[in-house]
Amino acid sequence: YQAKNRRLGFAFYTEEMGKTLKEREALEADLRRALDTEGELDVAYQPLISAKDLTVSGVEALVRWNHPRLGSIPPPVFVPIAEECGLIGRLGEYVLREACRTAGPLNLGTIAVNVSPIQFRSADFASRLFAILARAGMAPERLELEITESALLDSSGTSAKALRLLRARGVRIALDDFGTGYSSLSYLIKLEVDRIKLDRSFVQELGTCPRSSSIVRSVIAMAHAVGVSITAEGVEKPEQRDFLVSVDCDTLQGYLFSPPVSALSLIENFSIGFRRWQPATHPPEAPR
Ligand code: C2E
Ligand code: MG
Ligand code: MG
Ligand code: MG
Repeated sequence: YQAKNRRLGFAFYTEEMGKTLKEREALEADLRRALDTEGELDVAYQPLISAKDLTVSGVEALVRWNHPRLGSIPPPVFVPIAEECGLIGRLGEYVLREACRTAGPLNLGTIAVNVSPIQFRSADFASRLFAILARAGMAPERLELEITESALLDSSGTSAKALRLLRARGVRIALDDFGTGYSSLSYLIKLEVDRIKLDRSFVQELGTCPRSSSIVRSVIAMAHAVGVSITAEGVEKPEQRDFLVSVDCDTLQGYLFSPPVSALSLIENFSIGFRRWQPATHPPEAPR
């Protein structure tokens, strides 16, 4: 079965990757080794664009795993494996360290890092994070943690405590993938986040579904009413950009501006002092 899988090629393998117990176990062992050596792991950076003047206001760090035999494995395949086998803490800290090292010295504003709900709920999350920031000489004010609502729905109170601790020190919190979960906007606003990241499914529908324009407009107005900023994910078309700018969305992110790029591309852009992104001169990361 495995041999057959391999013969069917990469696309098929990606879809089925990690589906059988045997494959999962193999991937888990491979991921453990990748974390030990760090050679196969990498971080890509996608520019966050200020809607006000279309300049770069920060980057989102996105983990990459280049498997020696299977090639690039998408995060939605291996992040859940890391969560289930107790490796997510190490993976998350690798991304944070790497993002601080690469993007920290660049004058590019916010560094956004995704945090798994499981990592976020661990008791020593905040103290470990502050230690990494201190060692990197990174101001907490530059860091924005992207978490999903499930990380905040924690009856034990650990999350609420961590959230307060982080925000008291200046770390900002963004609610990722807004609109894909179950919570109402009014509930989410009570969580005291700094930013909402509108899921790309809403952005995709702009212009095709008349209702989605009204929804996006209302979400932005309600968030602004309580001082919460809005980022639109997955902006791919000029019409989407124009609509989002017209309804006062704060930040735009998507292939229209730039795909996630390598650390090298990021450094090349910013070391020469560009605030305006130049995607044409910087090839995107290798296709996955
Ligand atoms: P996310 O946090 O919502 O990240 C945005 C995803 O959308 C990224 O996929 C990005 O490459 C993709 N994207 C950006 N612009 C566009 C666009 O215009 N169109 C489309 N179709 N897609 C766009 P990626 O890098 O494959 O990551 C997928 C998910 O994996 C992330 O979703 C995040 O939930 C998770 N992830 C990635 N890196 C990390 C990490 O370091 N730690 C944790 N815990 N999760 C991560
Ligand atoms: Mg994110
Ligand atoms: Mg995310
Ligand atoms: Mg998202």
